[in-house]
Amino acid sequence: MRDLDEVFIELDRSPFRRNFSLRAKELQYLHQKGMNTVLDHAADFVGRRLAPAAPVNDGKQTPFKGHPVFVAQHATATCCRGCLEKWHRIPKGRELTNDEQDHVVGAIARWLEGQEKRI
Ligand SMILES: [Zn+2]
Repeated sequence: MRDLDEVFIELDRSPFRRNFSLRAKELQYLHQKGMNTVLDHAADFVGRRLAPAAPVNDGKQTPFKGHPVFVAQHATATCCRGCLEKWHRIPKGRELTNDEQDHVVGAIARWLEGQEKRI
């Protein structure tokens, strides 16, 4: 598993990853629910859609909009197990550990906090 600082430096160099940002509606949702609640959702999504050894529809399980966490997952390359392996060096084919799930939620939190600062 890679250090998040290192991952974020590299994400910032990727035109594809860097291009993601929250739309007004998603930002509003984040404000209404609050960061803690939204991160609870993140932990739940990660646990159900990413953590299993063989997630359902892996590679396509994360929509591109509709929830701030989904956008954050694409921006931080925590959208599927292929991206997690490539960017975060978390191998696929086995269940994620609690530490790894915390790492993913930490990446999402860090990105969302950056988005909040834009306003
Ligand atoms: Zn992906």
